[in-house]
Amino acid sequence: MQVGKYHILIDCGDGTQYQLLRHKVSIQKIDYILISHLHGDHYLGLMGLLFTMSLNQRSKYLHIFAPFGLKDIIEAQLNVANSTLNFEFEVHEINTFESQVLVEKDALMIRNFPLDHRIPCMGFRVDEVYSKRKLKKEKLPMNLSPDQLKALTKGEDIQDTSGQLIKNESLTYPLEKSKSYAYCSDTCYSEAILDAIQGVDLLYHEATFLQEHAERAAQTKHSTAHDAAKIATLAKANKLIIGHFSSRYKELGSFLIEAQEYFENCELAEEGKVYLLD
Ligand SMILES: [Zn+2]
Ligand SMILES: [Zn+2]
Repeated sequence: MQVGKYHILIDCGDGTQYQLLRHKVSIQKIDYILISHLHGDHYLGLMGLLFTMSLNQRSKYLHIFAPFGLKDIIEAQLNVANSTLNFEFEVHEINTFESQVLVEKDALMIRNFPLDHRIPCMGFRVDEVYSKRKLKKEKLPMNLSPDQLKALTKGEDIQDTSGQLIKNESLTYPLEKSKSYAYCSDTCYSEAILDAIQGVDLLYHEATFLQEHAERAAQTKHSTAHDAAKIATLAKANKLIIGHFSSRYKELGSFLIEAQEYFENCELAEEGKVYLLD
């Protein structure tokens, strides 16, 4: 996903780099890779992606956030191959049982929160928060002090040299709308996540099973389409995307029907589809 100038990849299953290539997403632009948990379908594409980045002369720094264990996996693969990656990167191993702020840069904030799955697993919330107004540079009087400029970005009115009040809106653009996205990868139904995902514009929630297989969902610590819709309703999300469907289902229309019974504004996750938040 893209937030301002930053590019974020959440989870990296087998074949991720080929999908990115196919959909013309530049892997070298990625700043942050977030791995929810260490089940293969969520990270087995990572090593291949890292090697391709290295082969293609990546120069940008890369931050990877993942549960404990990923550092060993990466090191083992590099050691046995007597290889190194030709770019700087850091693997931040995260305690998945606690929420914390992982990234805070410009308008971007990324937080993790615990999910309830068979192994340590976390979800992510990505916020784009604008608190500073952009200045209309062509309209600014010449002699403004740094303090006055700062006041303008905060939305305050200022006075000119003759004491005349200048309205903030004549010199600044309206504050950009903040946006939020939450990603709940593998998890059973859990109301414990509601605080972390409250009010997001877009919620991705897994829906591995249909309600008729709720027992199987509980055994494997996955969710049903109904569970995902209920979480979206309780979290007052604006829109829900469901995915991670079990391969036992040959057609996916039933997932949408089941989810929309409880949460109307829902779509099935589709490969290559672009979702815009505005
Ligand atoms: Zn899993
Ligand atoms: Zn999975």
